[in-house]
Amino acid sequence: MRIVKNIDEVRRQVKEWRAQGLTIGLVPTMGYLHEGHASLIDASHRDNDRTVVSDFVNPMQFGPSEDLESYPRDIERDSHLVEAHGGDIIFAPEPEEMYRKGFSSFVDMTVLTEELCGLSRPVHFRGVCTVVSKLFNIVQPDCAYFGKKDAQQLAVIRHLADDLNMDIKIIGCPIVREVDGLAKSSRNTYLSGAERKASLVLSQAIALGTAMVRKGEKNCSVIISAMKKHIEAEPLASTDYVKIVDCDTMQQISTLDRPAICAIAVYIGSTRLIDNFFTEDV
Ligand code: AMP
Repeated sequence: MRIVKNIDEVRRQVKEWRAQGLTIGLVPTMGYLHEGHASLIDASHRDNDRTVVSDFVNPMQFGPSEDLESYPRDIERDSHLVEAHGGDIIFAPEPEEMYRKGFSSFVDMTVLTEELCGLSRPVHFRGVCTVVSKLFNIVQPDCAYFGKKDAQQLAVIRHLADDLNMDIKIIGCPIVREVDGLAKSSRNTYLSGAERKASLVLSQAIALGTAMVRKGEKNCSVIISAMKKHIEAEPLASTDYVKIVDCDTMQQISTLDRPAICAIAVYIGSTRLIDNFFTEDV
């Protein structure tokens, strides 16, 4: 397993693999890897001959008041996890390698990015679409793996690949959770002891919504109200959003009459956490 910081070196390696007729999977991450990332690497290792894991805290997808500086980083630890799960290369470029002097091209998306996290984080998806397009161009994988944890991101990437005719299969992988239900996230390290306990309102609200859908509730505002009420009973929690959207368009719906995603974003103290469920998985 090698750590590569240079774009040309990744390209050389990919070319060599291609010449040998090998298939390539890509797992884009921002590092500080956990079992959620590991599940994507496992899936790529299962489906492809070689797996590239990108490990890049992408400055372009952070807003000015967000946590770019404090985002946790530990490439040494990440390399052990990638190796243990069958990854072949970590691509860990410096920001100056990805965004060279004079960089001025961006990939932007309308509609799908106008709801949910796109509303609270206005520059986020432009950064995501741009960096993922660059990674796709650099690695040219057969398949790329994304977590359902970031449900809107998954929908955006599927749409991007389709809109721009990228010949890459986009694979969505299930959310991996802590034993008590909290969705694994590199940002969970920000939580104090009391906040970690309070953070359980997210997975509890998801369980509540899931149970209502399973029982046949179709009225979105009834489901949303019950989930919000649960979250707001926790003093350390404040709701950014609880919404139910069409799976493909990310537009809000009022009745569960098509495949949908119920997505939430909640501040626990100053840490913003997200969670969701897909109605098709209920
Ligand atoms: P990040 O490093 O947070 O940008 O995440 C990189 C990839 O890992 C994204 O596709 C995420 O959706 C995915 N991911 C992060 N946390 C989880 C989780 N708990 N379960 C499944 N996938 C995850």
